[in-house]
Amino acid sequence: MTTDYGEPDLKRLAVLGSTGSIGVSTLHVARELGKNVQILGLSANRNLKRLVEQAQEFRPEWIVATDEASASKFAWPALPGTELLIGHQQLNRMVQAPEVDTVVAAIVGIAGLHSTLAAIQQGKTVALANKETLVAAGPVVMKLAEETGANILPVDSEHNAIFQCLRAGARSEVARVCLTASGGPFREFTQQQMENVVPKQALAHPTWDMGQKISIDSATMMNKALEIIEAKWLFGLSADQIEVVVHPQSIVHSMVEFVDGSVIAQMSPPDMKLPIQYALVWPHRIPGPAPRLRFQDAMSLDFQPPDIGRFPAVALGLQVARQGGTSGAVLNAANEAAVDAFLKKRIGFCDIVRACQDVLQQHAFQPHPTINEIVAIDQWAREEIDKWI
Ligand code: NAD
Ligand code: MG
Repeated sequence: MTTDYGEPDLKRLAVLGSTGSIGVSTLHVARELGKNVQILGLSANRNLKRLVEQAQEFRPEWIVATDEASASKFAWPALPGTELLIGHQQLNRMVQAPEVDTVVAAIVGIAGLHSTLAAIQQGKTVALANKETLVAAGPVVMKLAEETGANILPVDSEHNAIFQCLRAGARSEVARVCLTASGGPFREFTQQQMENVVPKQALAHPTWDMGQKISIDSATMMNKALEIIEAKWLFGLSADQIEVVVHPQSIVHSMVEFVDGSVIAQMSPPDMKLPIQYALVWPHRIPGPAPRLRFQDAMSLDFQPPDIGRFPAVALGLQVARQGGTSGAVLNAANEAAVDAFLKKRIGFCDIVRACQDVLQQHAFQPHPTINEIVAIDQWAREEIDKWI
């Protein structure tokens, strides 16, 4: 048996959202991989100081500053050899440039939808961190990828783990997948304690260092809800084939159970550099900067079912995965708006999921929405959250 894929090709990257947590880790990996990766494009919304520093180091062809108001106020230094592009539309121009073969989609939220679609439209390889795009528009995204032959390689650690585990058998041999969840900072809080949580507490994740929105999503476990829906579309699973298990150590990143009962797991310390690198050099494996597990140090791995009573988001994720259609777009938009309201102290912590449940219930369900209908219902759900508040 041989699984020798030869040497990995040089990857020419556009990194969308390069100043965020995933973007910075991607550039860390790129720095370490050296000759395997070339950075052609970077983008940031408001953190233009960091964008400039990145441009000075990597000397890309283009940088995109998406927030026009911030870009117009910023004192741009000369960046020889780098073209400055301003505005959201320019992301599409950058990802569609023929020189770019791989797009790292690391913008947070639905703001990443159009640039991800533009990359898939051109048949580019997409290393996808931006789960919200799949949650809101999974069927449209996957159908387009099938038509254009674009590879969508998951960066989200659970999906990257499943993607790796799937190499152990044929798709028809998969019984189910098991997404692990750290349980977030409030795994052991009572309902009463959770009602009083403030943003500072919710932003402090026990095992992962991430952007603000996903940190709150992890605390409510809405992140796992989004990941259930993401897994459904990425791997063509039914909701009944997806299970969630709480695993506080975040060492097992997810598992696949095959029809014979074998469970294959992927393990590594909690660090996004590994899934990012895997997506960048797939189907190869090469040495890189990810930390290693040390079995000489005592270690225990715990698994427990999620407490749906305290974390109703998990049940909501399964419900939306079952429904499909416009439900994903509504849940995603309602959650983005509710998280924003919580961070601004306009609603309480437990209100985030309650508001999402209510808005989902009110929405006019459509089973096969177009992309324009998805964008419209996203807007509707945000307005409903405003009314809810
Ligand atoms: P972050 O907030 O740290 O970074 C977001 C990036 O997107 C920044 O570069 C920012 O400038 C840019 N951005 C923000 N708003 C934008 C807008 N309106 N238009 C264009 N660009 C915008 O977020 P993150 O933690 O890096 O997460 C990025 C994505 O990756 C999210 O979808 C998240 O769910 C996913 N993800 C993150 C992690 C993690 O460990 N951080 C793990 C798995 C998946
Ligand atoms: Mg994840």
